[in-house]
Amino acid sequence: MKVLLLNPPGERVYIRDYLCSKTTKSNYLFHPIDLVVLSGTVASAHDVHVLDCMAERLSPAAARARIDALAPDAIVSLVGAVSWPEDRAFLADQHARGRRVAAIGDVLHEHSERRLAEEPWLELALHDFSNQDVLHWLVHDQSELEESTVRRADGRIERVHRGARKGTFRVPLPRHELFPRSGYHFSFARREPFATILTDYGCPYPCTFCVIGTLGFKTRPVEDALAEIDHVRALGVREIFFMDQTFGVVKSRALELCRGLEERGDLSWTAFTRPDTADDELLDAMHRAGCHTLILGVESADDARLAAYRKGYNVGAVRDGFLRAHRHGLRTVGTFIVGLPEEDADSLRRTLDLALELDVDFLSLNMAVPRFGTAFRRQAVEMGLCDEDDLVMDQGGADAFLPTKHLERAQMLALKKEMVRRFYLRPRYLMRRLRSAGNAGELARQAREGLALLRRNL
Ligand code: SF4
Repeated sequence: MKVLLLNPPGERVYIRDYLCSKTTKSNYLFHPIDLVVLSGTVASAHDVHVLDCMAERLSPAAARARIDALAPDAIVSLVGAVSWPEDRAFLADQHARGRRVAAIGDVLHEHSERRLAEEPWLELALHDFSNQDVLHWLVHDQSELEESTVRRADGRIERVHRGARKGTFRVPLPRHELFPRSGYHFSFARREPFATILTDYGCPYPCTFCVIGTLGFKTRPVEDALAEIDHVRALGVREIFFMDQTFGVVKSRALELCRGLEERGDLSWTAFTRPDTADDELLDAMHRAGCHTLILGVESADDARLAAYRKGYNVGAVRDGFLRAHRHGLRTVGTFIVGLPEEDADSLRRTLDLALELDVDFLSLNMAVPRFGTAFRRQAVEMGLCDEDDLVMDQGGADAFLPTKHLERAQMLALKKEMVRRFYLRPRYLMRRLRSAGNAGELARQAREGLALLRRNL
């Protein structure tokens, strides 16, 4: 069967993956990890193709022409809350052209039976891209589905919910070579091209605003991850973005992976982790294995708020984590969530003060959005900050996000933009960025990303 893995076209550059969606905050766009993983799974039994309309910046008309020329039997598409009206129109048209359509995305993560009832073009909503459900669907073997919502042959819609939420999982080797060679940009990459790789799935922590914590937590065997890394090395890739949401959460496994990377000796990479997870032993191993940048969740400068949203650490642990990372020679990205219901101008000022005190190399501000399936969404609905039926939202902050109890949306957005400018336009900071670029290519990439970020925050 000819199967197309699709990142559909859109009016803006959208990042839709891992049951989240947003507009890009600067210029970055990495490989959609759902499609990367599914490429191996589908290729194990079918003729698989990839069309990433975001990376190729394809218009809907151009995308339609490419799909018509390919004439796939089935399409497995990303969809997102950030782009839902566009996605549903595009995919309904593909269905009308005779193609079976399955989709995965945040907007299908909650009330999925209702979504399928409203969208007759949609046959299957995948809720987990690490299992074999897509293969069962392609051959109409619905009895084997684990974690999907399916439209049965008799028209009944059923949410199947029996997938393992912990343990290990294996996927056939992802087919990185099917993705475009250019069109992806990653702000923290020290060289291009880069590959986006996942060695675990979900997250064991319960942060109430985060969808990843609702997925359970499963790991891939380290040997599988290293085989995938050797595959991208054979394609000439030496830079990796690990999409694992908390690198090192199983420390023995992370140390084994780092040993494998260090033995290869030719890789540089970026990973997410938590300030309280990466101890000295792990940071040392990561640095020796080629890690240059750590993306660390801070979220808030306020201990009470960290506790209320169940982060499981306090600001003291955050300070210690950043000190450790810098001591091991790693660049840090501090990610903060802004616009939570309690937010006011004072708390935003404290957030910026903490980012400056931590001496983060990059500041990442994410708008609080009521992600589907999270406790925070339920809370926001109860507080009247959003409606149960609100489907369009954007953590990138281009458009749709929540007002707070104290700030209108326009005020919130203006204050967030001011924070970005105050952080990035410090002369000493700009000098540091200039001096730290390892080569002309990295300098050009950083300049491009920086300008795109500032344009969005004027
Ligand atoms: S630790 Fe990070 S990925 Fe895990 S639930 Fe919390 S915010 Fe989400």
